[in-house]
Order: sequence, then C-alpha cells, then structure tokens
Amino acid sequence: MSVDFSITGKTKILCVIGHPIGHSMSPPMHNAAIRDLNLDYVYVAFDVHPNDLKYALEGFKALRIKGINVTIPHKINVIQYLDEVDPLAVQIGAVNTIKNENGVLLGKNTDALGCKMALIEAGCKLMNKKVLFIGAGGAARAITFSIAEDVDQIVILNRTVQHAKYLTTSLEKNFNKKYNAKELNRENLKKELINSDILINSTSIGMEPRATESLVPKEFLHSSIFVFDAIYNPLETRLIKDAKESGCRTLGGLDMLVNQGALAFEWWIGKTPNKMLMKKKIIEFLGLK
Ligand code: NAP
Repeated sequence: MSVDFSITGKTKILCVIGHPIGHSMSPPMHNAAIRDLNLDYVYVAFDVHPNDLKYALEGFKALRIKGINVTIPHKINVIQYLDEVDPLAVQIGAVNTIKNENGVLLGKNTDALGCKMALIEAGCKLMNKKVLFIGAGGAARAITFSIAEDVDQIVILNRTVQHAKYLTTSLEKNFNKKYNAKELNRENLKKELINSDILINSTSIGMEPRATESLVPKEFLHSSIFVFDAIYNPLETRLIKDAKESGCRTLGGLDMLVNQGALAFEWWIGKTPNKMLMKKKIIEFLGLK
C-alpha cells in the first residue's frame, strides 16, 4: 500500500505505537484525512516492544514527532513517561493520544469522549439512565468515566468480579452515583437487563474470530434498550444483529473508533478531518465494503 502524496524534508510525522501494530486501522484512516486537507503530514505505525517504550518516548522528543496514538499494550504504562496528563485520562488510568508540544509530551484519552460523542450522535439519551456494562477492561474504563456524570446508574457485569469491583471503586471516588459490580452470568444478565435503558458490550466476545458469539442471550433483550457494542470488526456483531431483531436501537464500535481518531487529529493539527472519509477508509481496510 503506498501513500501517494509527496514527502519532503518539511513533512511532519504522526504515528501510532502498539505491539503488535500491523493490524492498525489508524494509518489508512489518518492519511486519508491528511490528504483530503492537503496537509504536509504523514502518519506511520511503529511496533514498540514493551521493554522499549521509554526509549520510544525519548525518541519522539528527539525526532520531534508531532502526535502519537497509543494502543494495546501501552495505554497504561505510557503515562509514566509523559510530562502532563489530562485529568480525565488520569481518572481512567489510560492514555491513547499524545501531543508533542516543543518537547513537552501531553497525554489525553480520546476513546472516552469519542464514545460519548458516538452515543449522542446515534440518538442515545444518557441523562438519568441505567446503563448495564458487560466487561471491565480498558474500553469499559474509558466509556464509564465519559458518561458517569450524565447517567443515573451503572451496573458492571464481568467474568472476573474483582476487575468489575476495581472499576466501580474508581468511579465511586470520582462521581456520586449508584454503581454495582457483579459476576457475568445468565441470572445477573436477565435480572439487570429488565430495567436497563442502555446495554454496552465492552468485552472482546463477538469480535473476529469469535464473530458468531454473544454473551447476551437474545431472549433477554427488549425493545426499550439501546445496545452499543464497542467492537468494530465485524461491523455488525451477533449482539447487534440480535438486538436489531428484538427491536432495539443499536450502535456498533466504528463511530467510536472514528471519533477518537478525529479528536486526536484536531488536537494535533487544529483542523477538522472528514469523518465520513475516515469511516470509509476503515470499512475498505477491513475489506467489508
Ligand atoms: P481488555 O482491557 O483486555 O478487556 C477485555 C474485557 O473482556 C475484560 O472485561 C474481560 O474480562 C472480558 N473478556 C475477555 N474474554 C472473555 C470471555 N471469554 N468471557 C467473558 N468476558 C471476557 O480489552 P479492551 O481494551 O477493554 O477492549 C475490549 C473490546 O473493546 C475489544 O473488542 C476492542 O476491540 C473494543 N474497543 C473498541 C474501541 C473502539 O474505538 N470502538 C476502543 C477500544 C476497545 P476479565 O476482566 O474477566 O478478563
């Protein structure tokens, strides 16, 4: 795959780091937006081994790399190497975007706002609602902190209850709302779904290669629930299919992915990228057109 715009000695560099990184959708998505705006930037991917994270961050300062996205497994460990971290990212405990401002590395979490924007854009009302989460990992942390102020109640069901309890304890320290952490099982799912307004899957179950699986039995879904699945590959997960067939309003993970990228782009460059184009590039990249 080639980047067919000219790179000169003045071209500024943006990048994503992760390990592995070859599957990342960020280079095609960001380079399409860069080209669309005719900017003298290029976006590349670096496979950074966890043992080399510190040196990579020092290298970004030395090479004056303007902006860095951070993905698995570095989102938590990267914080110790940053000069300043935005308060929401500190609460979440993870950074997915870094801006290099004249040698000062600033960290943010755009997954959080990216998800909240996607929910609002899809017509999901958050105010005073009960939200049921499945999963308590990095995505759940970012999403819960972004919506905690608006919603009334958050219940987290997770395979490992201690992980869910760790998340509700962090939320309780920051927001004065009702939180509950429980084991993910049929009984709890059935009981909690009855009066939930929003259901969010933030586990990896349903993602390729387990695309035919869903942790939520279809018979527990009812048409008054808004169902959001953070997974974007496949674009329509089994959970989303079941939810649509049950009359629910739904949203897949693609818009969250595009929004987090667009927010990073705007923060680095100060220009608004074409989100429709970014979305189209991801769909093409996934071979899902
Ligand atoms: P993570 O930190 O590794 O968390 C994974 C979560 O899935 C944990 O709660 C884990 O439970 C649960 N889980 C894993 N295997 C399970 C199983 N067999 N049965 C039940 N639960 C299981 O991962 P993450 O970063 O939060 O990502 C989670 C998903 O969100 C992924 O599919 C990722 O692609 C998606 N995501 C999407 C976006 C976007 O922009 N749309 C952004 C970030 C993430 P335990 O605590 O018990 O291990």
